[in-house]
Amino acid sequence: MHVQTHILSGWCVANLVPTFAPRDRLLCMLAASLADLDGLGIVFGQDVYWDYHHKLGHNLLYGILLCIILALFATRRLLAFAVCLGFYHLHLLMDYYGSGPGWGIPYLWPFSPREWRSSDAWPFYSWQNLSAFVILLLWTIWIVWRQRRTPLESVMPNLDRQLVRLLPRPEGAVAPQRTKR
Ligand SMILES: [Zn+2]
Repeated sequence: MHVQTHILSGWCVANLVPTFAPRDRLLCMLAASLADLDGLGIVFGQDVYWDYHHKLGHNLLYGILLCIILALFATRRLLAFAVCLGFYHLHLLMDYYGSGPGWGIPYLWPFSPREWRSSDAWPFYSWQNLSAFVILLLWTIWIVWRQRRTPLESVMPNLDRQLVRLLPRPEGAVAPQRTKR
């Protein structure tokens, strides 16, 4: 699926956990999207892209290493590792169906070349992927309106606050209490 869809999936789902702090939600967002770092091979040419995208970053070993690194930035590291690993697998699940019939998930790479492919996968540019993005975008806007925060809350807090002010405050809402963690 598209990177922006993965990013929003991590942030929206993380918002379902009321005890999560902004940094927790950022880690979830990263865990849900950084598998696609292997797409950066495109800077070395089309051949590298086609050989290594959906391979280097889309396997269990990479997922574990990525989540260990992300957990180092959390306060409750073991919990963060488990949560991040869950979000990493959300990425794989979304790609399993939404990356196009030609892409598989080499889950056990480099130990096994086997790729898991879905016979129900839909094309990359499809109404299903567009719908997933639109639903997540609407969900994001709803969170911005109700919870008074955006996906930028950790990385650009000033812009986050300016964007939040663009939307009217919901009936009965109280000003958000921002904790610095
Ligand atoms: Zn991916």
